[in-house]
This record gives sequence, structure tokens and C-alpha cells, in this order.
Amino acid sequence: MAERFETESRKLLGRLRDAMAGDDPGQARLDKITQLIANSIGCEVCSIYLFRDEETLELCATEGLNPDSVHQTRMRLGEGLVGRVARRRQVVNTADAPSARGFRYMPETGEEVFSSFLGVPIQRLGESLGVLVVQSKQAREFSADEVYALEVVAMVLAEMAELGAFVGEGAAMGARHSQPVMLRGTVAQEGVAEGRIWLHEPRVVVTNPIADDPHRELERLTEAVEELRVGVDKMLSLAADKEQAQVLEAYRMFANSKGWMRRMQEDISNGLSAEAAVEKEQSLARARMGQATDSYLRERLSDLDDLSNRLLRILTGQGADTGAEMPADPILVARNIGPAELLDYGRNLRGIILEAGSVGSHAAIVARALAIPLIVHVDRATLEALNGDHVMVDGEQGIVHLRPDDTVVTAFRDKMAMQAKAVERYASIRDKPAETLCGSVVSLHMNAGLMADLPSLEGSGAEGVGLFRTELQFLVRNQMPKRSELSALYARVLDAAGGKPVVFRTLDIGSDKVLPYMKPNDEPNPALGWRAIRVGLDKPGVMRMQLQALIRAANGRPLTLMFPFVAQYEEYTRARAEVDKAMEREARLGHVLPEALKVGAMLETPSLAFSPQKFFEEVGFLSIGGNDLKQFFFAADRENERVRRRYDTLNVSFLSFIERIVERCTQTNTPLSFCGEDAGRPVEALCFAAIGLRSLSMRPASIGPVKSLLRRSNLDEVRRVIADARHRGDMSVRPAIMNYLRDQG
Ligand code: PEP
Ligand code: MG
Repeated sequence: MAERFETESRKLLGRLRDAMAGDDPGQARLDKITQLIANSIGCEVCSIYLFRDEETLELCATEGLNPDSVHQTRMRLGEGLVGRVARRRQVVNTADAPSARGFRYMPETGEEVFSSFLGVPIQRLGESLGVLVVQSKQAREFSADEVYALEVVAMVLAEMAELGAFVGEGAAMGARHSQPVMLRGTVAQEGVAEGRIWLHEPRVVVTNPIADDPHRELERLTEAVEELRVGVDKMLSLAADKEQAQVLEAYRMFANSKGWMRRMQEDISNGLSAEAAVEKEQSLARARMGQATDSYLRERLSDLDDLSNRLLRILTGQGADTGAEMPADPILVARNIGPAELLDYGRNLRGIILEAGSVGSHAAIVARALAIPLIVHVDRATLEALNGDHVMVDGEQGIVHLRPDDTVVTAFRDKMAMQAKAVERYASIRDKPAETLCGSVVSLHMNAGLMADLPSLEGSGAEGVGLFRTELQFLVRNQMPKRSELSALYARVLDAAGGKPVVFRTLDIGSDKVLPYMKPNDEPNPALGWRAIRVGLDKPGVMRMQLQALIRAANGRPLTLMFPFVAQYEEYTRARAEVDKAMEREARLGHVLPEALKVGAMLETPSLAFSPQKFFEEVGFLSIGGNDLKQFFFAADRENERVRRRYDTLNVSFLSFIERIVERCTQTNTPLSFCGEDAGRPVEALCFAAIGLRSLSMRPASIGPVKSLLRRSNLDEVRRVIADARHRGDMSVRPAIMNYLRDQG
């Protein structure tokens, strides 16, 4: 029985291929296909519904329904049985369609006489393209074999659609990958860029979905899986640590999975080529991945997805070594990317577009360090983009213009030209101080975290590095860095700074920053959990190692360091004691001690602002970590898109709070600076200066715009605007400041 079924299935696929071979236009091909399927399965009706737009399905071809309803009958995603198949990406198989949940009667089609309904999604690698339906008068459920056969056919249709087989006269379907597309996402690093698409994982194109010779295809699959297994074993033998080995073990389990292999062999026996079989199983896994709520299951499905990609590359010879050349102006598109891989691309990239990712992800941190515009959460980016496509990234609005038309290109280039002019203007004040019209001088420093940042010290006009985030070195590696490596690196940072001050912040991990080689803690609320100095004090090994590395790197030069996330006085004194201990130890070991040592704390929790006077007297300096401080002040998660922009930094309550910190530091002569992202926003920086901050640290690209505004401003006037706004009871001083700036031109 099974064999007869396989023969039937192969015969149908063979006929489909013949139907595709002619020069027929797209619509004629679709018509022929519905006819072939209806005859072969022995049903009165076969219809193909394709997406018109993201939300609408259209009947594009039918055998058996009223021909006049073709291109007339439409339904929304989720509407009726067809809409349900498309939304859930699951088969609907019923003997009594009119009574099935969700059924919607389409009078123009004449379908009321058909009782049985079988609909399968037409999908390719998780992208839903449409629905293939068969219907019959006889009330019966379709057998598992029939469902399976229709799925195989749907798979072939999806591949053909990808190859543009249904495009043309009377267009059943628009040509894919040729129209302009606008995609939206979330800005993770600002900036605008124009360039050509470079896919991190090139799209594999399957040109032969139907097998000519199933025996040969089975052999090809076996050979490719063998190559895959050897590859995974090799990776496993090179695994750097236990954690990585565990991930690879899971890979090996899948690569050796009999179930996976058997399903692909069945697909081939039913007429698919080896690569189409791999893709069919991959599509099913992706559909399940979209629905899995269990994170463990999702991860395993994602492993399977990755293995399928590798297998496809082996089978098609496409992939990393396609010989395709990276364009001169590459804009990277990926589902997601790790920080180390991003560093490998380095500054070559003009922009980055990610489907997943998050504003606080490691990749985002690296993109920021490299000053490359990054947009995350861009749905469908890897599906819509092809290598070499023209693209414009608007990292201010969070918009990607893929294959833009001329009007968009002109408008976008105007915007880029205006920005380039501004950059020129900033360069002309690079060596001038940020001195306001009323004579106050604000010192501007830059934030850094990678060696790659250091060249910006010269170009930006920063007076030094106000925040060196040391965790980046830990995040971009697969294993804990050694003390000697760290010390060499910190020494290079100090060398590159050429005598300008550098404030090293000790390891700030936990919360959103999870080291790949450390066991993640399952905490109910990581931002309020075991992070930063809390980890350093409870498990001081790494902190001690880092302190030693810093002292050795300074090698007699001045050393400035600060501890992140200090919430109470005692945490600072304990950490400070560790520094003293490290100094003593290093002296005993005969190392040269720094000629001057400054030890400070980051003020990132409101509690620290209310600590005893003694703390302010004792601490070497304070740096306000506004990103964290603001999230705790307003109780609004900085990682949560829904709330992270809800409260304005220029809200009078927050400004008053910062002002209070400035006052306390003034009383005790404690040096104070602000190093959160807000310091790099010109209007915010202006208000901070007006309430008394005299040191700001920001990303290098912000120094020009901030300095330019400060040099044109009078802080006495700004103070008056703030006072008036407070007096009126404004919620935020922003509107008043913006009006004032507008009046000033
Ligand atoms: C901050 O919280 O403002 C800060 C500078 O530290 P990070 O962004 O690294 O948490
Ligand atoms: Mg912080």
C-alpha cells in the first residue's frame, strides 16, 4: 500500500514538473497544477490561495469551484477554514466542513456542495505563502497518506513560488524580491546608512525540488548527513569548555537522530529531492518553533534549524563559501548575531538589521562601540532581503527601505547630506572646549569598551574615557579571559589613550549581560538581581583577578577605577578594601604600583543618593549611571519596549533628583559626572549642565552635537526656563526648553 502510494506521489510530482517546464505564464501554470492535483487525488476541487498582502489571502487558481471567483474571493488571515490554515500553519482535515469551527461560506465559489475539506499551508522556511486546498462531495476524512502527499506538493509549490514560477501575465503573484519594501524595527544604535545587503547566512535556493532519481537522492542525503556528522564531531573535539560541549552534544544527538533521517528519507521516496526534503522538515520545525512556549523546546528546535541550514549548504554547495563577494558598502542582515561574530566584521559594516536581538543585547553593545547603525526586531528582514539588494537604513526612525524607489532615495540622501554637513561643523570645534556663553566649562568624555573604540578618542575631541565597560572583553569571548590577557589589554588601552584619563569600570555582569561561559542564574527579575558589584563581593575571585590586571597594566601610571551598581555605603567600603588588598599584594610581588589611584562608585540606584555624608566624603568620585538610575527611579525596565520611553529624562522629578545629587557632591567636594546614554543627547546634556553637572561621558559620536549646543547656550537662561517650568507645574521641562531653543534659532 505504502509503495503504491509512493509511486502515485512521485507520478504527481513528475507531472507537476512537466507542467512547470513549459513557457506558460504563471496563471496558466497554476491552473494546470490545480487540475493535476484534483485528478491525481480523486477530488472534485483543488484550489490555491496565495497571500495578496500580509493579511489577505486570494483565491488564485481553482479546479472545481466557480472559475469567476478566481482573483475575486479574498479572506483575511484567520478568517474561514483557509484563513485558519494560514494563520496556524497547520493542516485542517474535516469530513464536514460546514460544521467545522471557523467555517465561512463564500457564496460566489459554489463550494456549499462540498463536504470534505483538506487544507495544508504552503510555506517555505517559516514564511507562509498561501494555502493548498482539496475538497470533495463525499463526506470523508482524508487519510494520513493523502495529507502527507498534499504537504509534499505544497512544499514543491512553495519552492516554485520562490523561483518566480507563478509570476507574469494575469499575475497570480507579484515577483518576489523585486518590489520596494519598507520594514520597521526598533533603533538600537542611531545613525543613517545606505548600502547593499550582505546576508550573514546566505539564503539557500533550491532549484530542483523534485527528484529525478530517488535512489540517487537518498544517496546524496546519506552522504551529506555523514559529512554533517563528521563536522559536528570535529567541532565537539575542539569545544572550548563544558558549556559549549553540551550545546554540541545536543547537535550531535539531532545529527544522529533516526526519526529526522527517516522522515527525510520518506520525503524523498515520495518524490522530493534531498534538499527539498531537508527544507520540508525544517519548515515544519520552524512552524513548531513559532508556537512552542517552552523555552527548552524552542532552543532544541532552533538547534535543528541550524543543523538543517548546515545540511542544506552541504547539499547545495551554497553558503559561506559561495564565492559571493561582500559589497564595498555592506549592510548586514541576520536573524541574530553574536558579539564575537559582529566584531569579526568590524567597522566594514555600514549598518546592521536584525530580526531578533534587543536594544541591550551584546550585539547591540558591540554595534554601539563600533558606531554602526543597528535596527533590531525587524520582522521578515531575512525573508525579504537578497544579497546585493540596495538598502537604506534610517536608524533614527527605525525604518529599513529595501530596494527603495527614487523618491525615497532622494529624500534619504538629502537627510544624509544634512548629517554630513553637521559632522563637518563638529570637526571644526573638535579642539575647542565645551564652554558656554556664560563662561561655564563642561568636560566631555567618551564611553568605550573595546580596543576598537580607542581611535575615536582622537577624532571625537573627547578629553578622556569617562566609562570603560570592562565586561565587553568578557562578553565577546567563549571562555573566561586570563589575567595576563586582561592586563595586556588594559595596558594597550592606556597606551592608546596617550595620557588622557581612562575610568575603568569593574565587571558589570548579570541582568542583561550574561557571560556565555557562566551558568545563567534563573532569577525572577535579573535587573534587580545578583549583578555587578553584588557578584563581585560574593564571589571575589574574578574581581581580585581584574584588580590585579588593572594595577599591572597601569605599571606606574595613574589608575582610575569605579564599581558599578553600588547601592549602599558598605558595598563601596568592602570593594575599596579589596583594592587596598590588591595593592598590598602587588607590592609584595614586586610590581610597580600606580603613581596615583582614584577609586569611585557608580550611582545607579536611588538609595545611594541618600547615603550618609561620610560616604560622599570618602568616595573618590561618583559617576551617575543614568540608564540604570532612571529605570529604578521610574520603575520602568530599560529593556522593555513598552515602557522604556514612557518617562522623560527631563521630567521635573528626575531632574530634581539629579540636582539633589549635584548639591550633595558640591557640599563634600566629590567629583561627579554622568555617563548614561542621556549625557549624549544634546538637550538633556544642556539641562544637566544647567543644574550643575560639569562632566559628561557619552558615545564618541555625540560629543560634537553636545559641544556644539553647549557652546551656543547660556546656562543662566536655561536655568530660568527650567525654574519657570517647575513653577508652572509642567510635568517635563522639555517643551519649555524646546520652545526656548527654537526662539534662539
Ligand atoms: C548606566 O547604567 O547608565 C551605565 C552607564 O551602565 P550600563 O549602561 O553599562 O548599565
Ligand atoms: Mg548601569
